[in-house]
Amino acid sequence: MRKLAAGNWKMNGTEADLAEIDALMAAHPAPHCEMLICPPATLLSRMAARATSDLMVGGQDCHPKVSGAHTGDISAAMLADAGASHVILGHSERRADHGESDSLVRLKAEAVHAAGLVAIICVGETEAQRDAGQTLDVIGAQLAGSVPDGATALRTVIAYEPVWAIGTGRTPTTAEIAEVHGFLRARLAERFADASGFRLLYGGSVKPSNAAEIFAVPNVDGALVGGASLKAADFGGIVAAL
Ligand code: PEP
Repeated sequence: MRKLAAGNWKMNGTEADLAEIDALMAAHPAPHCEMLICPPATLLSRMAARATSDLMVGGQDCHPKVSGAHTGDISAAMLADAGASHVILGHSERRADHGESDSLVRLKAEAVHAAGLVAIICVGETEAQRDAGQTLDVIGAQLAGSVPDGATALRTVIAYEPVWAIGTGRTPTTAEIAEVHGFLRARLAERFADASGFRLLYGGSVKPSNAAEIFAVPNVDGALVGGASLKAADFGGIVAAL
């Protein structure tokens, strides 16, 4: 399985920033890993026009329904129509800013699967939860609640993103990442026959200087990258480390 370098542009990017994609492709015409960029929905189809077998594009969220009276929302089917192959779900910013629950994330994942796309389901503890020794309990509950029973390795990626590591420059130790990723793999194995094939991404302050160390951790199959995905030089440095 090739590793996956996934970039989450969040609420950043306009037409001019598509030049970063061109620069990324020029610098890494044949990467060892798969690359995925999840731009804001406004850029999705323009970025999809640049997609190749090495560079895929994805959405950052979707509504659980296919269509209807849901002002401002976008369905998985619409993301597929715009050229997306993946959808990030349950990012901690959506859980915090929009009150998304595990059960809602699960419904969204079912919608993503029904649309034939890959769901990237995010889990992760807050700093207070880690300090209280609750990390594995929190992540276990999020995994159980957010991942639908029909999930398969082909259609589901799990991203471990400690909330306290996102955008802070702080990362867990490699031992802490290994513990959580091993736990995720074991919990998946209790429910899914193809658990060994699920990609497990680490996310939270990944940058070129720490990527190689993180990617060497067992059960780390790639990264979900926020800030460092916006510039071709930074994301390319991470891609080179995979
Ligand atoms: C993210 O928000 O998914 C993320 C990993 O952000 P950053 O890389 O900026 O910490």
